[in-house]
Amino acid sequence: MSATIPAIDVLRPFQLEASEIRGRFVRLGQSVDRVLKAHAYPQPVCRVLGELLVLASGLAGGLKFDGKFSLQIRGQGAIRLMVADCTNDGFLRGYASFDAAGVAALSADEDPVSLLGQGLLALTVDQAASGGETYQGIVELEGRSLADSMLAYFRRSEQVPTGIRMALEQDTNGAWRGGAIIVQALAVTDPAAKEAQALDWQEAMVLLGTATDDEITNPGLPLDTLLFRLFHETGVRVFEPQALAHGCSCDEERVERVLLSFSAEEVEEMRLPDGSIDVTCQFCNQSYHYEPARLVELFNTRRH
Ligand SMILES: [Zn+2]
Repeated sequence: MSATIPAIDVLRPFQLEASEIRGRFVRLGQSVDRVLKAHAYPQPVCRVLGELLVLASGLAGGLKFDGKFSLQIRGQGAIRLMVADCTNDGFLRGYASFDAAGVAALSADEDPVSLLGQGLLALTVDQAASGGETYQGIVELEGRSLADSMLAYFRRSEQVPTGIRMALEQDTNGAWRGGAIIVQALAVTDPAAKEAQALDWQEAMVLLGTATDDEITNPGLPLDTLLFRLFHETGVRVFEPQALAHGCSCDEERVERVLLSFSAEEVEEMRLPDGSIDVTCQFCNQSYHYEPARLVELFNTRRH
């Protein structure tokens, strides 16, 4: 085990010694809290979006890509759309679109995930900005927990044995925090190695199940201490941690590109009574204000 690393807003990749089982432990504090607090979403929506953000950061950490990893849900229930993004350098953002009355009708003993109803969960690796490939996988939600839907995806589409232990809670100050330990078995071909891996895998799944919600999310417990408690018998090797933070890629230039993509009629409809236009980023709620004179200037550039 190496020198002290932050106990929160960090992703710690690890490997179980000798068994080709890889994993990462992600723990979110401010990073998830800020994404959720940027919006005034009701509690059940925060809970589901928080889980999606935990999963997005944990899954992104297991991939090599240059751009954005995104989990997107389209549901037929009160929550219609939910997006959680994590960039390759650890910036998280997310938003939800929902029917407020439907969300308010959820009773206290119902799982907020049921607000999604039937729906689809899509995983997208978007590398368009860096000139790389974009690929997508889709799985049906079928009313299961988000973690179960992800497991179904890895079972069917990628055929990678995967285990997920995740938690999301609010601390005594109402701040959101969450975390997940995700383990995956790499493909091995040698029959003896395969057999050894299968035994280690079973044991790892049992051990993973013993981690409590508090152990997963509590910044008072160092990540490596929990990893060692769980996996010390097999041996666990940890790799360079990655910091995670709330961050959005919106800026004036992007907003202007979007504005320029609208037709003249559409732009007219967006105008406020004084002729200006306000654009609010759905991810971070940052708003961009355009005075009429600035809009004339902007749209003149399109005509040249
Ligand atoms: Zn933004």
